[in-house]
Amino acid sequence: MSRRHTRADEPQQFDLRRAARHALRGLGLRCPNCGAGGLFRRWVFMRDTCPRCHLFLDRREPDYFLGGYVINFVAAEFMIAGGALAAILLTWPAVPWDLIKWSLIGLMIPFPVLTYPWSKTLWLAIDLQLRPATLADFEGHGENDPAEREEGAPVA
Ligand SMILES: [Zn+2]
Repeated sequence: MSRRHTRADEPQQFDLRRAARHALRGLGLRCPNCGAGGLFRRWVFMRDTCPRCHLFLDRREPDYFLGGYVINFVAAEFMIAGGALAAILLTWPAVPWDLIKWSLIGLMIPFPVLTYPWSKTLWLAIDLQLRPATLADFEGHGENDPAEREEGAPVA
């Protein structure tokens, strides 16, 4: 079976296998595009580009990771709601309300920090599904470097 070659700017059809592969790579804190690790310098500090495929991890957009913040926020809300519901159901009818309240407050503070890297890689995976990478999304192309662009320009 031959692989269909598409131009980078040509719209791609939704591919469930590709979406699953991107999501699994994101869940493994790997580059959704190529699967390489090492995207983070420290726990919450992401590199500018992927060390293997040189994809700009913020896609060169200001506030790119607002989507990641939303994923992180929603996951924290589900953790709190799900934890409260599970604790109530497991201890019914003698529900220890104070214990549940303080336990969830204790979890609510570290949870977003602990899960922050996954929210960033998952957001990148989702975004690559919605807007597949083009050559302009990779470091090392002349169109991304103003100095190279000026070198190639004709001298007046
Ligand atoms: Zn990569």
